Amino acid sequence: MESGKFCPPLYLQRYQFVIDFVNKYNPKKLADLGCADCSLLRKLKFHRCIELLAGVDIDSVALREKMYTLAPLSCDYLQPSDRPLTIKLYEGSVLEKESHIKGFDLVTCIELIEHLQLPEIGKFSEVLFGYMSPAAVIVSTPNAEFNALLPGLTGFRHQDHKFEWTQAEFQKWALDVCRSHGYAVEFTGVGEAPFSTENRGFCTQIAVFHKTFGSDKQLGTDPEEELHAYKLVYDVEYPSLCDHKIFRNILVNEVIYCAGTIKTRLLESSEDKETLPHVCLASINTSGSKEPLLMDMGTDNEPYLEGNAIYIPLAKLLSFPKVHRLCKSLLRLKEVLLETSQVTLSSDAESLQLLADSVDGCDLEDWEGCGDAENNETSGSSAAYEEDWDEELLRQSFQS
Ligand code: SAM
Repeated sequence: MESGKFCPPLYLQRYQFVIDFVNKYNPKKLADLGCADCSLLRKLKFHRCIELLAGVDIDSVALREKMYTLAPLSCDYLQPSDRPLTIKLYEGSVLEKESHIKGFDLVTCIELIEHLQLPEIGKFSEVLFGYMSPAAVIVSTPNAEFNALLPGLTGFRHQDHKFEWTQAEFQKWALDVCRSHGYAVEFTGVGEAPFSTENRGFCTQIAVFHKTFGSDKQLGTDPEEELHAYKLVYDVEYPSLCDHKIFRNILVNEVIYCAGTIKTRLLESSEDKETLPHVCLASINTSGSKEPLLMDMGTDNEPYLEGNAIYIPLAKLLSFPKVHRLCKSLLRLKEVLLETSQVTLSSDAESLQLLADSVDGCDLEDWEGCGDAENNETSGSSAAYEEDWDEELLRQSFQS
């Protein structure tokens, strides 16, 4: 603590505490109560375990101010995640029961409770632990005993604080909650004084609650009861490979890119235009960098020329690491490619067909003239598409 300031700042230490907890327990559904301008949510959205992220605040201005910063970025469309992610923001009071926030894996209440009136704390505990009944809860609040160490502070730390608890007061509340609602609690905190503080504790005191086994039975609320007191103000779904259309788009683009790479290699290594050369793929990957790994799919998977077309066996395409990462089996690859008109398959659907006419007017007889030119229909590189895509186009593309 330097000149009365913590390093890193106390609020970042609180966020980091939550992030460490998330990294340890991998919650899928997380709600941040009293999320204000969504600063913590913005950090949490990068955590791959989380599939549903909800924020709740009574202050709609704070909530709306930066809610669009939770929107997906271009990179989220270009490289959709394996997991789904939905972010929802609700305007509402934590003193109201809301079915949409029931049964979460983790609920965080960071510097929230001291903004409630003391007589409201009982209702808050009942709503949070009794009704929402999450598997784990993190509650942080100022430690009043630490205030004497904060230079120049008189009264509460913030004008909107209705109370600030000592460690004993906080712990009494938390232990009562555990008894009433079937939770176990551990006490900790962030913000340590740089000198001996005679058990004054942390600047921010934190209680971590875990629901104990079988405590669902103690709930007094009818589980079927649907209560909606919150107003949904923001709802965004991230592009994810779990969405079949998105998965297909990404896979097809990758296949097109790989086919283009194979063709380019063919052109480069073709001294003898009479016979089709075998392509050395050992150092090709789709990002253009060298990557030694190619799946060994046997020797019958080389591209071949028939009439006016190049045929690239799907097994060859599946040997590209990124295609393989997206699509583990040949059967699945075939099924997905058969769904789209963006590529043409051979009659037995075992190979991708690049038609001579579709190679930007370039005759296969005259390969050297082709250079890097690729046709969008059958062999365009996804990198070329990417350059043209602005964020709006990307959105439209994935929504269509
Ligand atoms: N948790 C955030 C953080 O750590 O950055 C912000 C905490 S801010 C000090 C307290 C927030 O609690 C405010 O945004 C306030 O609007 C919200 N709040 C106060 N009473 C509330 C209530 N009854 N229901 C929901 N939110 C409430």
